[in-house]
Amino acid sequence: MIQKINHLGIAVNNLDEQIPFYRDILKFEFLGIEEVSDQKVRVAIFQIGEVKIELLEPTAPDSPIAKYLDKKGPGIHHIAYQTDNIQHQIDQLTNQNINMIDQQPRTGAHQTKIAFIHPKSSGKILIELCQPSE
Ligand code: ZN
Repeated sequence: MIQKINHLGIAVNNLDEQIPFYRDILKFEFLGIEEVSDQKVRVAIFQIGEVKIELLEPTAPDSPIAKYLDKKGPGIHHIAYQTDNIQHQIDQLTNQNINMIDQQPRTGAHQTKIAFIHPKSSGKILIELCQPSE
């Protein structure tokens, strides 16, 4: 079951340039920076209420975020909905003919399990499902 919004992923060219806005101006709680090698990104994570804001900076030219920045420039990259059972959620969506980018969960920041729904199936919005580690 989908429970709530876990985070918004925002594509940026440079973490160091964007962190002060969220940390010092908006005064969001800064949880730190993590590298997700699987997706070739460095992620700066902020907490605001129950929702996290994740700034995504590519670490390689073939990173999905690098490709996104080339095409569209900086901006909101994806919305992540939290689920309590990601594999069940994937199966349920697949059974309803929703096109999944990931049929199997993979590892995201903070050891979460994540899977993306194909934007073809979600009105062009990139949606991530995520299940926090216990
Ligand atoms: Zn995400």
